[in-house]
Amino acid sequence: MLSGMQWLDASLFGLIGLLIGSFLNVVVYRMPKMMERQWQVEAAELAGQEAPAQEPFNLMLPRSRCPHCGHTIAWYENIPVLSWLALRGKCSACKAGISRRYPLVEITVAALFFYCIWSFGANPSGYAWCAFSAILLTAALIDWDTTLLPDDLTLPLLWLGLIAASLHWIPVSLNDALWGAVAGYMSLWLVYWGFKLATGKEGMGYGDFKLFAALGVWFGWQTLIPIILMASVIGAAVGIAMKYKSSLREGGYVPFGPFLAGAGLTALVFGPQALRQFIGL
Ligand SMILES: [Zn+2]
Repeated sequence: MLSGMQWLDASLFGLIGLLIGSFLNVVVYRMPKMMERQWQVEAAELAGQEAPAQEPFNLMLPRSRCPHCGHTIAWYENIPVLSWLALRGKCSACKAGISRRYPLVEITVAALFFYCIWSFGANPSGYAWCAFSAILLTAALIDWDTTLLPDDLTLPLLWLGLIAASLHWIPVSLNDALWGAVAGYMSLWLVYWGFKLATGKEGMGYGDFKLFAALGVWFGWQTLIPIILMASVIGAAVGIAMKYKSSLREGGYVPFGPFLAGAGLTALVFGPQALRQFIGL
């Protein structure tokens, strides 16, 4: 029997998830641009040039604008899901379409937060899994859009997992978590160099190693093989489907991070055992 409090807590965090999802949409859009600006500044410094003067651009500034007409988005046009529905998915000024992905991300984060609090309770364990889901989803979307996996997401995910294991917020011993990080990073590092020496190509990036290491922390080293197999099977299926529909981006590169993240979220929702069953282990 579920208690009334459990529903109340989970629903409250579902609402918080809508707001966090709205913020994550901003992070997904701006973080790669912030990284690019940072690289430009560093490149200029290395070349001994004055860094180009730039307007402040971070997660808070400037205010969100329509990318088509520059219309500043008012607070009432920025209410998760509801504003998108009220605007019928169009900018109020120029009527350009607003991607369906914005409300979908908000709803996904709300559902994940509801699930985490409903399953683990409104306690540090539930909050830890909420943070895990939010960071993982953000990393997956940025990787899908730009093929970048920012250290600013993968490394905090790893540290947070080690802290959560140490404080018994997650059902993984600190020992299993630590070896999960080592084995996760080293295994993909070896695959990367093996592939590179054999073919001269790069099959994935260092961000993938760090993300896999973080998943090794949150689920323990025992779950790494099921995660990598599930991510590979689904990644290959999507890659082939995209090739068939010729919707592959230039160079035919499909980022691996979103599939790792997807396997991680599957392990969270259905349990690591489900992953092992899925691949028949
Ligand atoms: Zn507009």
